[in-house]
Amino acid sequence: KAFPAGQKDLKSKIKFDDVAGLDQAKAEVVEFVDFLRAPTKYEQLGARVPRGGLLVGPPGTGKTLLAKAVAGEADCPFFAMSGSDFIEMFVGVGSSRVRDLFQQARASAPSIIFIDEIDAVGRRRGKGGFGGGNDERENTLNQMLVEMDGFTSGTGVVVLAGTNRVDILDPALTRPGRFDRQIAIDKPDLAEREKIFMVHLKPVTLHTDLKREEVAKRMASLTPGFAGADIANICNEAAIFAARRAAESVEMQDFERATERVLGGLPKQNSLMS
Ligand code: ATP
Repeated sequence: KAFPAGQKDLKSKIKFDDVAGLDQAKAEVVEFVDFLRAPTKYEQLGARVPRGGLLVGPPGTGKTLLAKAVAGEADCPFFAMSGSDFIEMFVGVGSSRVRDLFQQARASAPSIIFIDEIDAVGRRRGKGGFGGGNDERENTLNQMLVEMDGFTSGTGVVVLAGTNRVDILDPALTRPGRFDRQIAIDKPDLAEREKIFMVHLKPVTLHTDLKREEVAKRMASLTPGFAGADIANICNEAAIFAARRAAESVEMQDFERATERVLGGLPKQNSLMS
């Protein structure tokens, strides 16, 4: 998944309604939306401004989607980067990219920065430097910390980050004033999977015998352990199977084949056990 790192004026059209389930997480990020809409209100009241939030959960559960929805609800630009982009970078490149990204975000404030896979840069420092190669990662992490510390209450930039490994993060990242808030994003339960299917079935042309509600219910019960991204995939694959059959609409058999296909592509065990 390639992010246009620091692309300017990337206004998100995604709203909370596009994020199915995750009610608890949505309730927790509402404060960021409120802050982005009226940063000075917080300042005037002398409140400590919410600066960063960690969205913690397995891959494909909607962390990026939720961050985009925060930007969409606040109607502000969304700047994104992925921690894994910074691995094996030449000296100085990672930290200067971080500097640029924060600079752009500040210039377009109120705005939001999303750092996907923050664990790739944010692993605890000072361990396992076999033959070097970690230096630039550490520089990048240090730059991130410097940038976050440089925010004053009127900066109007919220930084969200996604990870599924909060345990390996450098404690400096989770200190007050940095990513001091953790928001759990879990795999969807049965009712949530049904809601996610409802969202991703919307663009699909279903056979006239099928009702969206019924397909969503049935598919939700067939997909324990699937994440939102897997569900989006199933809906898309089902439409592709139907197209290959030269059919005019998508039938249950297409969903069944698509489920098997997506299941085959999932990593064994861990995706299905939780
Ligand atoms: P990663 O950790 O791999 O970056 P992520 O948690 O950021 O994953 P997203 O990129 O947000 O996951 O999700 C991928 C896609 O899956 C979304 O663009 C969306 O189509 C679908 N999706 C995931 N969760 C949901 C959800 N709760 N509601 C609707 N769609 C969802």
